[in-house]
Order: sequence, then C-alpha cells, then structure tokens
Amino acid sequence: MSFSPDCPLCIPDHDILLWQDDRLRVVRVDDPPYPGYLRVVWQRHVAEMTDIDALDRLHLMRAVFQIERLQRAILRPDKINLASLGNQVPHLHWHLIPRWRGDPCFPDAIWAPLRHDPARAGAWADARAALAPRVERLHRILAAHGPAADIPDTGA
Ligand SMILES: [Zn+2]
Repeated sequence: MSFSPDCPLCIPDHDILLWQDDRLRVVRVDDPPYPGYLRVVWQRHVAEMTDIDALDRLHLMRAVFQIERLQRAILRPDKINLASLGNQVPHLHWHLIPRWRGDPCFPDAIWAPLRHDPARAGAWADARAALAPRVERLHRILAAHGPAADIPDTGA
C-alpha cells in the first residue's frame, strides 16, 4: 500500500516541510519544549523498515544520520534521541530529537510524564530562547541543501 486516506502522514497538511526528495521528506516538529526536533517521513505509506527494500533503507538511514550530524554540529545538544515508533501512526517515520539536560523530561523520553519541578520549565524557556538562532540556522541549511549539507564553519 502506498497511500492510506485515514493516515495523517499521507496527507501531510500539518507538516512544516523543510526538504524532500521522491522517497522521503524532512519536516519540522513544532513542539515548543524541544527545539530542533525534526521528523523524517517516508513518502509512501508503509509501516515497518522491512516493508522497504535494502537500498531504500540505506537511503532513509543515511538521511537520518546526516541530519543527526547537522543537529549535533549546529545545536550542540547533550544527546540526540532517535525513535521510530509508529504505534499511533503506522506510517514509517523517524523522530530526531535533540535533548539537553535541562529540558522538561530529561533524562526520560520526551513522551514520558513530567516528573520534575515546574520551575525547571521556566529555566528551560530561557535556554530555549537562547537556542532559537541555532535552530533557525539548522532549518535554513536543511531547506537549502538537504540532509547532505556541508556545514559552514562560521559560528552558530
Ligand atoms: Zn500514511
């Protein structure tokens, strides 16, 4: 199956597209507590990595790792979380989530219940604001050059 009318990732109106080719697209995930959060979505409606052939798997994972490299170089997070779940939306996609020790859920997964002092969220808002120019730079580079972008050596 390559399209499912009930699947939100097949009808990507809510996506903020940064870059795409004929097999995958890179979209921003505007989840305010998590700056630089991106998603790589396979264009066709398939559920699992083994629903696509080996060359397509290489293409997808190359893009994921190239984007991880850009996130690390530009955002300098404490950790990157890569996740392919698809339990709620069984359309192949990868989450690429930069993480910082001060973010609201660290060290838990971002989907975990919050278990920290709410004051931490206030401190994180300031840190997030400071990261905004780097996030904009990441988005600009991806939109202009795609996952294989060379990263210019000039500051953040
Ligand atoms: Zn779909």
